[in-house]
Amino acid sequence: MARYTGAVCRLCRRENQKLFLKGTRCFSEKCALSKRAYAPGQHGQARKKMSEYGVQLREKQKTRRYYGVLEGQFANYYEMAVKKAGITGENLLIILESRLDNIVYRLGWATSRPEARQLVRHGHFEVNGQKANIPSILLKAGDTITIKDKSRSSEKIKAVLETTDSKVVPMWLSLDKNALSASIVRMPTREEIDLEVEEHLIVELYSK
Ligand code: SF4
Repeated sequence: MARYTGAVCRLCRRENQKLFLKGTRCFSEKCALSKRAYAPGQHGQARKKMSEYGVQLREKQKTRRYYGVLEGQFANYYEMAVKKAGITGENLLIILESRLDNIVYRLGWATSRPEARQLVRHGHFEVNGQKANIPSILLKAGDTITIKDKSRSSEKIKAVLETTDSKVVPMWLSLDKNALSASIVRMPTREEIDLEVEEHLIVELYSK
């Protein structure tokens, strides 16, 4: 399935939840969800009772869109989560959190996950001293991430860092703001993942 290239605010309106896909705009009064808190389209304001399947599907779509992951890739992450010890739903979220683009976003090196994906693709980061331009790389505890020397003078990177200067970095990451380097202290717990999602519904969906 191809990546969605339409207006991303429609995705938030569809899920009736902020997915934070537009950086600073998401925190402003320009946020489309603040202005039109109903689903897009002609029947967006109609009241619909969702089936059990519909509720589970929406939860999966919301999570997938939050992290900007394609359908097939998301299903692969689910398979990985099943094989890990522990609670499958939580494992799934931890795998999603360990993606390079998500970690770049969590560190405040991008204002949104879509922007993080783009910056990674443009080759602004290194993982463990090696070039890393694939947003879906999964990182693990002990890995280090740095902004490449060459990229530190980039106007884009400078603007992002200025915008996100006061962002609080989660405890499972360690950031050295001066050195523009970071490391993964440990993987996050479910409580540390600030995602309003009922992951058990995703497990129920895939278990059918
Ligand atoms: Fe979603 Fe951000 Fe658009 Fe608001 S501004 S609808 S949070 S992408």
